[in-house]
Amino acid sequence: MTNRIRLFNIDIDPLTLDQALTHIQGWIAQRDGKCHYVVTPNVQHSVLVQEHGGLRAAYTDAGLVLADGLPVVLAARLLKLALPERVAGSDLVPALYASASETRQLKVFLLGAAPGVAARAASRMAQQWPAVETVGTYSPPLGFERDEAENGRILKLIEAAAPDVLVVGLGAPKQELWVHAHRQQISAPVALCVGATIDFLAGEKRRAPRWMQRTGLEWLHRCASEPRRLAKRYARDAVIFPKLVWREWRSHP
Ligand code: UDP
Repeated sequence: MTNRIRLFNIDIDPLTLDQALTHIQGWIAQRDGKCHYVVTPNVQHSVLVQEHGGLRAAYTDAGLVLADGLPVVLAARLLKLALPERVAGSDLVPALYASASETRQLKVFLLGAAPGVAARAASRMAQQWPAVETVGTYSPPLGFERDEAENGRILKLIEAAAPDVLVVGLGAPKQELWVHAHRQQISAPVALCVGATIDFLAGEKRRAPRWMQRTGLEWLHRCASEPRRLAKRYARDAVIFPKLVWREWRSHP
């Protein structure tokens, strides 16, 4: 773990994407029997964590806490905190896949997204990254997180597949809470809590064009593609997030 910087009550690892990859590859090589998990707080999560003790605890125990979202990076800069760049989960996963090779194969398990989506992601991944093998996919039913038998089944599926990396796309905060609650039983050296990444890998949802990602407008693209679901979320965040920045600004010497 690196020296974390504190922003909005979240301790963030000030790492570049390449540095984060080095940590993840280290955990995979080392296999110390633990499941090291990665979370990527963005504006929505920064707002959520203020009121959510469970999510805060999940962040505290995470192996890596990476800043996803230009507003978070810009807020850090405003407060003169050294945060080198945005590291989005949906950039981290393809970068990790691209780092696999014939001599360093990668086994992944995709947990989450609607039924059938992870299987489509797996077949596209096989084309693009032949050194990445999808050893399992599973789309849990609605409300699974409250069903102990179902949680046990999922953990057994992961154990049988023995992945190097568990890619968890259940949306926030469900994915962070689930991984945190089961971290001692997850048979994978690394778990990545990465929201809609499985949808992106499957081509189910499209990511914003690069220029929008670079200018902090990715949220606008997502909102336009799923307005009914996301408009309310973004409207609430747009009110609360500036208040968080203001609060930090005032409390900084
Ligand atoms: N999802 C899921 N099970 C659930 C809730 C959500 O598999 O119980 C999936 C959903 O299908 C989508 C993913 O979680 O693929 C990410 O959702 P969202 O867009 O909310 O994630 P974000 O990237 O905004 O955190």
